[in-house]
Amino acid sequence: MELRKDPITRAWVIVGDEEERKLQTDGHCPFCPGSPNHPQVIATLPAEGAAGPVMAMVHPAPLYRIEGDPHRRSEGIYDVMNSVGAHEVLVQNTRHDTELWQSTEAQIVQVLRLAAQRIEDLKKDLRFKYVTVYKNQGAPAGQQFDHPTTQLTATTFVPRRVLNELRASRDFYLEKERCVFCDMLNQETRSNQRIVEMRGDYVVFCPFASRVPYEMWIMPRKHEAAFERTVHSKNANLHELAGVLRRTLQRVNCMAESFHMVLHTVPNTYQKSNILQYWKTVDEDYHWHIEVLPVMGSQAKPYFLKEVYYTPIPSELAAERLRALTVK
Ligand SMILES: [Zn+2]
Ligand SMILES: [Zn+2]
Ligand SMILES: [Zn+2]
Repeated sequence: MELRKDPITRAWVIVGDEEERKLQTDGHCPFCPGSPNHPQVIATLPAEGAAGPVMAMVHPAPLYRIEGDPHRRSEGIYDVMNSVGAHEVLVQNTRHDTELWQSTEAQIVQVLRLAAQRIEDLKKDLRFKYVTVYKNQGAPAGQQFDHPTTQLTATTFVPRRVLNELRASRDFYLEKERCVFCDMLNQETRSNQRIVEMRGDYVVFCPFASRVPYEMWIMPRKHEAAFERTVHSKNANLHELAGVLRRTLQRVNCMAESFHMVLHTVPNTYQKSNILQYWKTVDEDYHWHIEVLPVMGSQAKPYFLKEVYYTPIPSELAAERLRALTVK
């Protein structure tokens, strides 16, 4: 497998090898206790009650391989590199039938802690520029395993959507010396038109220009660029965040068959010499958040709607409907 860069959009594309990524499961769930093809466990956090530990494992059919050098090179005008990186599966529960939104707050807190721990650990590897934590739920969203899991990738590049966010928030900061996300939160909480839930230190809202109906963002109310720092800070109320996350996923399940969830946090800034100049203000200008994007039905979209988002439900109405749902 290799990574190819589109010279116009600057997006990296993983050019795969179908055979290489075939899962060998022999009918056993690889993540259930006692599985004969249990992947290698990288890290474990204990949990309470019947849930069992929360574990990070090597993805059984990874998109990226940990060994080797990315070997960035040119092929004429094009950029190519090896698909070096990390691809892990966060098994949030040893039980095959308990999803994140059915878990206790204590269990979700452990998942958040493990995610933060893995992000910090992988960022010590200076080859990696970004760590993405995401969940694809339901077949239309590309769910891979029946067992409840969240996935994590560490990449030698910053994915394009995050890169756009990082650049936009840096530009905003250079002009105004303010965090654009904090400004957004201020306006949203004042107008109260698109807020879905506000609980302690966390807010859930439908973004002004939602890409799909019922898109929701979870954000800390206090400015913090790095998710992993929030998780490790003493006064972060993680139970509050866990509850907010659980209810947000319950809400999205009421509205859609499947969804994508992704965490957006700061890139790897350990590599002081060359990256730090570029991300010099990132701690002030960026603000971590979790994006939840419902996948509505399985209707095929015409080409135009793949390039320009169209949502038939304005975010004000979406927020109103989401607020009205009964969740716990
Ligand atoms: Zn299982
Ligand atoms: Zn902020
Ligand atoms: Zn984002």
